[in-house]
Amino acid sequence: FGIPCIVGLPNLLGRLEQSMIVTIDGGRGVVHLSPDEAAVGEFKVQESSLEARRKALDEVAHLPAVTPDGERLKVKVNIESLRDLDMFTAKNTDGIGLLRTEFLYMERPEFPSEDEQFRLYRRVIERMGGLPVTLRTLDIGGDKRLPYFKTPAEMNPALGWRGLRVSIEWRDLLRVQLRAALRAGLGWDLRILLPMVTSLEEIDTVHAIFEGVRASLIEHGYEVESEVPVGVMIEVPSAALELERIIDHVDFVSVGTNDLVQYLLAVDRDNPRVAKLYEPYHPAVLGTLARIADVCRAAGKPCSVCGDMADDPATAMMLLGMGFDTVSVAPFFYPGIKYAVRRTTAVEARALCDRVLAADRVQGVRDVFAAFDAQLREGEPVPEQAREE
Ligand code: PEP
Ligand code: MG
Repeated sequence: FGIPCIVGLPNLLGRLEQSMIVTIDGGRGVVHLSPDEAAVGEFKVQESSLEARRKALDEVAHLPAVTPDGERLKVKVNIESLRDLDMFTAKNTDGIGLLRTEFLYMERPEFPSEDEQFRLYRRVIERMGGLPVTLRTLDIGGDKRLPYFKTPAEMNPALGWRGLRVSIEWRDLLRVQLRAALRAGLGWDLRILLPMVTSLEEIDTVHAIFEGVRASLIEHGYEVESEVPVGVMIEVPSAALELERIIDHVDFVSVGTNDLVQYLLAVDRDNPRVAKLYEPYHPAVLGTLARIADVCRAAGKPCSVCGDMADDPATAMMLLGMGFDTVSVAPFFYPGIKYAVRRTTAVEARALCDRVLAADRVQGVRDVFAAFDAQLREGEPVPEQAREE
């Protein structure tokens, strides 16, 4: 929602007092209790510089994301509630790259019926006015829970019954969702995305279910699109390692870096105790991303990144340099990505990617990004106060 916030600070409330001034720097993750006047002044300068940046970004929000040397990056948005639909102008984006359907089901007392799902999906699809909508099938379990869908307690939920595993085992859930999606997508550009894929067998199973659903709809008099692309999320190491084989069986690939980082590094994405070890710039993560992009390019298949990593403009430029054709980001971030694309040549993006991949430690990667970020920000409007100083 564009509101800077900080989470995971224990005992903060106990230290607050009535009328105390508190500054919250969501960008750096710093909270100051009772800052002195100088600190408040500095904070206000930062605030107005953020405001100026936001205005500069608003000005490019409607422009195409094309580099000065003519390479295009598709910039799509991730949607997880109907409220998100009011956060952006559809025609300024290249569509929805990730519709997290489980969250559409959250603010309700029970699972929606097929017709209710149909209406929800139609609403989203119509709102996008013909742009692609990538609907991810239910990805519950692990960190995503529905109050009315009680799954048994597990010792290790991230490695447990979640995502596609649930859909394959309780396939009536998947069938209903696919029926609703196919009905809602008729006449529109709908694509289906499968979460938590770990093997080719799972893809085969879903294809069989999908064909069954399509046949049954036709049998019952519904019209369905002849071609509905089915893609997979690459967010588990086995799928990344097997991508050369998987790629021939899917229409597109979207990398879920939130989970990929967790599973590659064996670091729970929700455990504050190991939060410092959750490192998207780990060379193993970056090398895996580069490999995924190479395999997709060689196979001529579209590939995007829809994990939070892509929200950062410099990181998105690295992804462009690696060969990803699309990023999908929370609505708040898409203008920042467009801004970066319009200021970075494809040649610079590839050079950034080479430098990042050459670093053998996280700090080395950070240094490369810090230099690139500084270059990206050059020429940005400076707020009045900062200019005086
Ligand atoms: C991801 O894992 O990067 C992703 C986009 O999916 P989610 O965050 O919903 O697990
Ligand atoms: Mg995921």
